[in-house]
Amino acid sequence: MLSIVATPIGNLGDITLRAIETLKKCDAVVCEDTRVTGNLLKQLGIGKKELISFHGHTDPGKVEHLINLLKGGKHFALVSDAGTPGISDPGYAIVKRARDTNIPIEAIPGPSAFLAALSVSGLPIHNFVYLGFLPLKKGRKTLLDSLRDEKRTVIFYESVHRIEKTLNELADTLKDQPDRPMAIARELTKMHEQVINTTVHDLPSIVQFLTKKGEFVVIIGAR
Ligand code: SAM
Repeated sequence: MLSIVATPIGNLGDITLRAIETLKKCDAVVCEDTRVTGNLLKQLGIGKKELISFHGHTDPGKVEHLINLLKGGKHFALVSDAGTPGISDPGYAIVKRARDTNIPIEAIPGPSAFLAALSVSGLPIHNFVYLGFLPLKKGRKTLLDSLRDEKRTVIFYESVHRIEKTLNELADTLKDQPDRPMAIARELTKMHEQVINTTVHDLPSIVQFLTKKGEFVVIIGAR
């Protein structure tokens, strides 16, 4: 059995009862960073538990090794550093192989930053497109240009190192749509949580005063 366990994106209180139960009873936790997950387990009062490192660059041999252990009857909980595994995080490779080999998989749903951001944004969320992280180079301009005609709400993740550059690029790409609404969500569920509603026109002035610290989700209203 493979349990896909979502973990908090900042506030420990967002862990679910099923997540705790699963992390307690599984044979091992397959995780992105053993220090981060070790710390989470400690905070949850979960004693000694085997942690198996599995990150984005994990080689296919490791996936097969884990699949063989699952086939042998092990119960693993898969977690990432924060939020839902597989959502702009490692997880897909092992879930795909587990599906292909008929290993039972269960979802232990919980936090994900993009859903939390959408839910508080005040922008239409009946129809949206999630882009993950924008490409850094190849395809970036084409993708940004395509947002000009996007009829759905668009949501993506951005790192603290690139947030200023990306928001300025967006302001420039969409400059002929000045009233298009946007929201920038920062540090959701944490002490300095902030959600800023703005428009493309006002974006450059927002960028100037935005605290460039923490984690960011960017939302653009439909055209
Ligand atoms: N698996 C995670 C999820 O389900 O949301 C996403 C992991 S991805 C590597 C990390 C990115 O998610 C950050 O760079 C940021 O864009 C976004 N993020 C994670 N936690 C956040 C938070 N508390 N507030 C705002 N954005 C957050």
